[in-house]
Amino acid sequence: MRIDLHTHSTASDGTEPPSGVVESAARAGLDVVALTDHDTTSGWVEALAAGERLGVRVVPGMEVSCLVRGVSVHLLSYWQDPADAALGGMLDASRTSRRTRARRMVERLTADTGLRWDDVLEHVHGQATIGRPHIADALVAAGIVGDRDEAFATLLSGSSPYFVPHTAPDPLEAITLVRAAGGVPVLAHPAASKRGSCVGDAEVEAMVESGLAGLEVDHRDHSDAERRHLRDLARSLDLLVTGSSDYHGTGKRNLLGENTTDPEVLEQLHARAGAGGGAPASTGGEVRGA
Ligand code: AMP
Ligand code: ZN
Ligand code: FE
Ligand code: FE
Repeated sequence: MRIDLHTHSTASDGTEPPSGVVESAARAGLDVVALTDHDTTSGWVEALAAGERLGVRVVPGMEVSCLVRGVSVHLLSYWQDPADAALGGMLDASRTSRRTRARRMVERLTADTGLRWDDVLEHVHGQATIGRPHIADALVAAGIVGDRDEAFATLLSGSSPYFVPHTAPDPLEAITLVRAAGGVPVLAHPAASKRGSCVGDAEVEAMVESGLAGLEVDHRDHSDAERRHLRDLARSLDLLVTGSSDYHGTGKRNLLGENTTDPEVLEQLHARAGAGGGAPASTGGEVRGA
């Protein structure tokens, strides 16, 4: 049983549509794949339908952008009610801020590179959550950089003069809202230091008090030493340990199934889903008509 609990589609900054991610998962020999687009559940219906067609169990999820002390924190959420008003309001605010921020980054880039906002919009599918990868794709198409990796290492890096941050909720607030919507929160790549500063152990402990259920330990951005530390931390805080690819289609090197999650852990996560984060979900996670 091969389980990958972190992937992105064109509903945010992946390069394959939700059904394409599930098709790729089937080809990669995965039994279970979670769709975790940034700050949106808009890919769920398509992904769940594809999962049914292809015999792949699709776990509906998302990756919530959070910010604490200026440190970017990514929170995975699984099985939350996509119609929950409070959580939906928080996500709407993040997506709006992401769009404003992307426009401001492009304004800064226009003077020096000639890149325009319309060039970026060509790479954004419908109402997708906008991120730096879309700007990267426009820079690649314009021949300004070779690929997304180069864009992130240069013009779009956090230390670049073109970089603009977006607003995002505090992780404790996000965890509380995810739980209230029946979701199961797992901290994504908690020690991925090459992306920037990370949260400390005391901050993770505070998240546990708000209802954090797990840590994504096995992720390509973590060294062996970081994985050992996170495994110890998970043991001491009674957190579940997951592993996943953070697949973005051709937008990143990450390959489906390169890290996986234990079937037992998936069932323990699922047992925590449901209204208020208490009762087990009765739907089996098969959320429809979202
Ligand atoms: P943003 O959320 O807009 O600040 O952009 C950062 C996001 O870009 C991360 O969450 C990654 O998932 C995504 N990303 C996609 N491709 C790349 C890449 N080649 N290098 C770094 N980040 C990437
Ligand atoms: Zn992403
Ligand atoms: Fe992330
Ligand atoms: Fe991700």
